[in-house]
Parts: sequence; C-alpha cells; structure tokens
Amino acid sequence: MEKLFLYNTLTREKQEFKPIKKDKIGLYTCGPTVYNFAHIGNLRTYLFEDILKRVLSYNGYKVKHVMNITDVGHLTGDMDMGEDKLEVGARKEGKPAQAIAEFYTQAFKKDLELLNIKQDDIIWLKATETIKEQIEMVKILEAKGYTYKTSDGVYFDTAKFKDYTKLSHQNLDALREGARVEKNKEKRNPTDFALWKFSNVPAQCPFLPGEKAGQKRQQEWDSPWGIGFPGWHLECSVMSALGLGDQLDIHCGGIDHINVHHTNEIAQSESATDRPFFNYWLHGAFLNIAGGKKMAKSEDNFLTLENAFIKKGIDPLVFRFAALQTHYRKPMEYSREIMLNAERGLKHLVNQIKGLNNGSGSKTNNHKPAIKFKSEFTKAINDDLNMPRAMAVVQELLKSDFSAEEKMAAVLDFDLILGLNLDRTGGNNELPDEVRELGDAREKARKEKRFEESDQLRDKIENKGYIVEDTKDGQKIFKK
Ligand code: AMP
Ligand code: ZN
Repeated sequence: MEKLFLYNTLTREKQEFKPIKKDKIGLYTCGPTVYNFAHIGNLRTYLFEDILKRVLSYNGYKVKHVMNITDVGHLTGDMDMGEDKLEVGARKEGKPAQAIAEFYTQAFKKDLELLNIKQDDIIWLKATETIKEQIEMVKILEAKGYTYKTSDGVYFDTAKFKDYTKLSHQNLDALREGARVEKNKEKRNPTDFALWKFSNVPAQCPFLPGEKAGQKRQQEWDSPWGIGFPGWHLECSVMSALGLGDQLDIHCGGIDHINVHHTNEIAQSESATDRPFFNYWLHGAFLNIAGGKKMAKSEDNFLTLENAFIKKGIDPLVFRFAALQTHYRKPMEYSREIMLNAERGLKHLVNQIKGLNNGSGSKTNNHKPAIKFKSEFTKAINDDLNMPRAMAVVQELLKSDFSAEEKMAAVLDFDLILGLNLDRTGGNNELPDEVRELGDAREKARKEKRFEESDQLRDKIENKGYIVEDTKDGQKIFKK
C-alpha cells in the first residue's frame, strides 16, 4: 500500500500520516451552525471531509468521526461581538431556538445524504447538550489563571498562551490589527476571546427592528460567573475530547477557521490539558462565486443544494463530481456553466460504465488484475487527496485494454472513494429478459455474418426502447 500523505496546516507541509493508535483514528470535523440552510460552499467543505474519511478507511483505518452541531454560541461577529446567530434566526422566524436548530439540522443531514456524504458512523454532539462540560472547562482554565472577567463575559487571555499563532503562522501584530475591527475596550488583548458570555447585555440585545434592549434571551444557563451561554470555540474543544477521548488525530474545517476558531480551540485546550490538541489540522479552500467572491451566508450569493441543483433538475451528485475536479486546497469556482459541464462529465462517465455493464463481456484475453490502475489511483488519493488525478486515473483505466469485468471491478472499488454511485446502472440483469435474449441473438447473427438478420434484431431491440451500439469491446445495449 502507498503511504498516506496529508497537508498539515500546523507544520505547513505534506506529512506522512501517523496515527496515535495503530489502526484507529479520531477525526473531528467542525459542524454547521444551524440557523439557516447550509450553502454549497459549506457543503464543499463537508465533501472534502467525506473524501478524507473514505481515504482513511480505504487505507485500512477504523475511523471514529465526531461532528458538532452548533446550536448556541456562534456570534454574528467573529471577535465575540454581535448576537448569537441562533437567537437572531429564532426571533426572525418567530420560533423557539431549538425548533430552528432541529429544522436546519435535519435539512443539513438531508443535504449530506443527497451528496453521498457518509453519516451513518458520525457521532453527533450538540453544543446545548454539553453545557455542563463546557462550564467545567472554563473552571479549569480559571483555576490555572488563564481567564478574566469583563462586563460582558469571561475571556481567555491569549497573552498567557505562548504558542498562540502556531496554527495560523500569522504575525501577531497583523492578527491584533485584524481583531481591532471589532472593538471591545475591556479586552486585555484584541485576540482574547469569550469563554462565557453574559445574557442581557443591553448594547447587544436589540437586533431586530422594534426590539427593546434587555430582551430576554431564549437560550441561557446559570454558571459560576453569571447567567449566559458558552463562547463558540469552547464547544469544539469540549466535544472533540468528549467524543474522541485522547485519540485526537485529525481536526478539519474550512480555511476561514484557521485564524480564529481553530487557533482559539488550540489555545484553550492545550492550556487546560497541557497536552497537544490534535496532531493534524486539515483545511478546505473556499467555494467562490462570481469571479473569486467567497460564498457566505451573510452575502446575497448564497446558493443551496435545493435551489442550485434539485429545483433545476440537476442531480446533486453533479456537485460532488464537480468538487472532485478541484483539489480541496485550491479555490473552487461556482458558475452555472461549470456545473453544466460537470453534469455532462458525470453523464459521460455513467454511460461509459453502463457500457461495461451491458457489454457482452470481455473481448480481450487480458485477465491480469488492473493492479497498475489500482496502484495509480491509490497513489493519487494518498497524495493529500489528489482527486483530480484520481479522476484522470479512472479515465485511463476505462480507455485501457483491460476486460470489461476488470474495469468494472476496479471502477466499483474506486467508487468507494469517489462516492458517485457509479454502480447505479446495475448489471446485465437490468435489461429485461426479452431484450437480453434479442441482444444475444443479434450478437450471434453478427458473428455468423448474417447481417440482415442482425439489423432486424436491432430494430426489434430499438422498438422496445433500447439503443444498440457496436464498440470495439462488442455490442452494448442502453435504455433510450
Ligand atoms: P458554518 O455553518 O458557518 O459554521 O460553516 C460550516 C463549514 O463551512 C465550516 O467548516 C466553514 O469553514 C465552511 N465554509 C464556510 N464558507 C465556505 C465557502 N464559501 N467554501 C467552503 N467552505 C466554507
Ligand atoms: Zn469547531
């Protein structure tokens, strides 16, 4: 087996992957904030993480995968200013926050299903169900002297954690400058972040027209510091440890999480435990739209799987196919034209595979296993998930002179990673018996050079709604 190499944001290099335990891996992927539908940019990140999980399994590892559902604490401002996105969503829709969270969680899981993103093995943890553990972590940090209190919350003092920029590799001055965009005069350092936010801070409460300051918050809990709710970063530190124990191998998210969310997770977790928090950090690049603009929930460029694909009659797996064409660390552009091209590409691939299924078997005597292609494919996926190269290997295989059976076996094996449902066309038995019998009779007639009869049989097959094609690998029959 080829060695597996992954690009680690922490070390800024492609590293050979070495798990903490021999065969088992702990994987944590930051989940959705469920106040709205996921957009296809978010879904690009979940697709990359799905490929990663499939590649790890393909390499023989047993993967324990934890994903959180953010149903409290994610504020509208990156630097702990603004309002909780769930509270805003709930008040906008005039519903309980948990009803909103449940609705968008189910919508999210449906999107995953439509994109063939494996979820049967995911351990889901909700932020609101781990409040006790989150408070415990703040208590530990407080006891160790990492925290301080302001009028709106309990903050982590980032100056006390010496490796604060080890993930972002940012110049701390630049980071501080960025953090100044949202001013909070009570913070000791601009990069300090909230571990616990107090409810009813007047300046933050009126966020919808007509609301009064001091509006009662829907989701709040008692704590040793006052009534409030946890900071967003805290939940991922707590839930990853809860779900994975000390098997903290790989942590993923989109690149926007590097500078703040993941940097802060590392700071608080390592300060609390005095141990390294995750060995490998993998980040997916953005899906952009309209010439390089990041797709974002806060912008009006927000496209969902439903409105960009399903409502337009496009198979959602076209988006998966399109995502496979760009390496996960490179920006991907969305446009209708690119997706129509991807649609054609996927249809072509499916037809090529139908051709293998419906052909009358091998026309070559080459029964060597397609080892060469398996090794090329594995080399590609193990080279930091090089899916564009892996897709090219699939084409090289299909164009090779291996037998149809060999090609089919290899393609189905590769589809364990691609997840494009390439076996959706079924086998020969998908043809009704009478069509298959006509096909066999036609093939026999052609072999025996009874061409008139073979043409008549072709007409009969076509009258039954099927197309006959003669290829170098023999006769193929497809449904019209
Ligand atoms: P959120 O629901 O906002 O917490 O985001 C969920 C995931 O989507 C995170 O891992 C983000 O980093 C990622 N993400 C957000 N916008 C994009 C985008 N335009 N392209 C790719 N990933 C994104
Ligand atoms: Zn997270």
